[in-house]
Amino acid sequence: MNGLRKGRLVIISGPSGAGKSTVVRQLLDRCHLPLKLSVSATTRPARAGEIDGVHYHFLDGARFNQLRDAGDFLECKEVFGLGYWYGTLREQVATGLNEGSWVILEIDVQGAMAVLDEGEFDPITLFVHTGGLESLESRLRGRETEDEEVISRRLSIAAEEIEFMHRYQYQIINDSVDRAVDEICQRLSEHREH
Ligand code: ADP
Ligand code: 5GP
Repeated sequence: MNGLRKGRLVIISGPSGAGKSTVVRQLLDRCHLPLKLSVSATTRPARAGEIDGVHYHFLDGARFNQLRDAGDFLECKEVFGLGYWYGTLREQVATGLNEGSWVILEIDVQGAMAVLDEGEFDPITLFVHTGGLESLESRLRGRETEDEEVISRRLSIAAEEIEFMHRYQYQIINDSVDRAVDEICQRLSEHREH
């Protein structure tokens, strides 16, 4: 590789409420690999406690479209059909990979399929789920960040997303956060080049 350090792209998807953010946060803390989370752009309003540039780059629609037209997104999608767009910034991915990081994209299934179709990155793909829609619903409600309309929209999308589970290399059941984090770290470690 001409002495260049080589990063890896890691895609983590799963229905809203499955625990992706929780698991990814702990993975970044506990897994020994040089992981780095790509910060996406979104037109969704920030939730209480979310910080611009840390959780997302919160953009208005005009700015998002500008970036899209300029080709700055590796992929971008309107995720829940509620008018909010989410996108992976090419520059985040390129910078991370160039510095040798394992760049994590926490993105929806449409976005993941778009990256796979692009064929450029040979990503490691993981699908995180709860093992059932009931537990998903109770986690979404327990999080208390969305209203009823948004929760039911996310649940109906969840059923569609689960159909894509088999397109991922690993299916991870987030029954316990600690266990799921250990399993993901173990799976990723198997991809290290020796
Ligand atoms: P996502 O990022 O997939 O939408 P979150 O990480 O926000 O999901 O998790 C949704 C809710 O479920 C949060 O309130 C979180 O604390 C909780 N949660 C996450 N993992 C577990 C788990 N293994 N068991 C019980 N609750 C969990
Ligand atoms: P939330 O609004 O709960 O933060 O995220 C909602 C959904 O958007 C999640 O399924 C998450 O994986 C997805 N998402 C976040 N960032 C991106 C992105 O850059 N691209 C795509 N396609 N989906 C994203």
